Amino acid sequence: MDLFSKIQGYEQVVFCNDPHTGLKAIIAIHNTALGPALGGSRMLPYPTMDAALEDVLRLSKGMTYKCAAADVDFGGGKSVIIGDPLPDKSPDLFRAFGQFVDSLRGRFYTGTDMGTTPEDFVHAMKETRCIVGVPEEYGGSGDSSVPTALGVIYGIMAVNKAVWGTDSLSGRSYAIQGLGKVGFKVAEMLLEAGADLFVTDIDERAVSLLLEKGKSYQATIKAVSLDDIYSVPADVFVPCALGGILNDKTIPSLQVKAIAGSANNQLFEERHGDILRNQGILYAPDYIVNAGGLIQVADELYGPNKQRVLTKTKAIYNSLLQIFEHSENDHLCTAKAADLFCEKRIESQKHRSSFFTHSQKPKWEIRV
Ligand code: NAD
Repeated sequence: MDLFSKIQGYEQVVFCNDPHTGLKAIIAIHNTALGPALGGSRMLPYPTMDAALEDVLRLSKGMTYKCAAADVDFGGGKSVIIGDPLPDKSPDLFRAFGQFVDSLRGRFYTGTDMGTTPEDFVHAMKETRCIVGVPEEYGGSGDSSVPTALGVIYGIMAVNKAVWGTDSLSGRSYAIQGLGKVGFKVAEMLLEAGADLFVTDIDERAVSLLLEKGKSYQATIKAVSLDDIYSVPADVFVPCALGGILNDKTIPSLQVKAIAGSANNQLFEERHGDILRNQGILYAPDYIVNAGGLIQVADELYGPNKQRVLTKTKAIYNSLLQIFEHSENDHLCTAKAADLFCEKRIESQKHRSSFFTHSQKPKWEIRV
């Protein structure tokens, strides 16, 4: 009974065990009101089964909201493979995992996440069609950081519109934390638009590369320390590295008027959404801003098409403006307003699909 109370509110939790390959995995399907569940599969050496279950439950619920926000006709799911990626991975393990995914007959679509690579899922794909995000040469849609970075730009335009009345990117300054796959592209697009930047990264090569690139723009780029990024006099903070960075220690130092970035789980705790609001800082909820990658993998249903993905990613701008309006009208922090926005969308569509339509006859099939 204890286990059932833990999974209260979830449609289905599947424990996958294959002694032959050593596969131990959990698939959680949180909600399929908007369509079959979609979510990555991460591989980590979880210390206990409870830790793995907690993670997959938390992440699959997050996917329900993320899919609803991105308006992609998918519900929320996630999977965790218990093991150390380096010694424990094998092609057969991913084929066995693919068989478990296939046994769900179209109720769960998955792809890469922490500890797994698109290549791993090329093996899983031999057993099921319910795989997304494989390399382009296998029919996938390619690097997801491109639409994710574009989504961040639309997120920044939305906060600019809400705070300063114009969505123009130019003439403002941005503090970018993390110049990885997403952050570097965001930095380049902001430079292109005529913005000034403060940047930081633990990887000094990424910072040097950006400073070098910046020489061809008439912009000021200032490299700052890992700690100073929180207190620079920028207009917008753009977190593109870690989660939990909006907390009791960092929020009092912020001088920005708004926050919009790709990092997942930026608020250390829910209450930090209220603290930001009380401090007059407009926070663009992370899971709305960083949905570009999700939009891309969900779009694979129709066959890869970069242009269509980029067009769909634009919707992030309007979704954010609606959320900011709700937050203002209902005196809520933007994070809570975003959750309500998604819950409304799920509620309004839940008549459209049911458990049985997916389990008996998968209507969604990836073309490979
Ligand atoms: P990445 O690993 O390519 O880049 C992260 C960068 O942050 C690296 O350059 C790293 O050196 C830097 N970094 C790490 N710790 C730091 C610190 N303490 N201070 C400053 N910099 C630090 O990852 P990415 O794909 O660019 O993703 C960035 C963030 O966006 C992550 O939180 C990721 O979960 C999230 N996200 C990414 C995508 C995507 O499509 N790639 C989609 C949704 C969300």
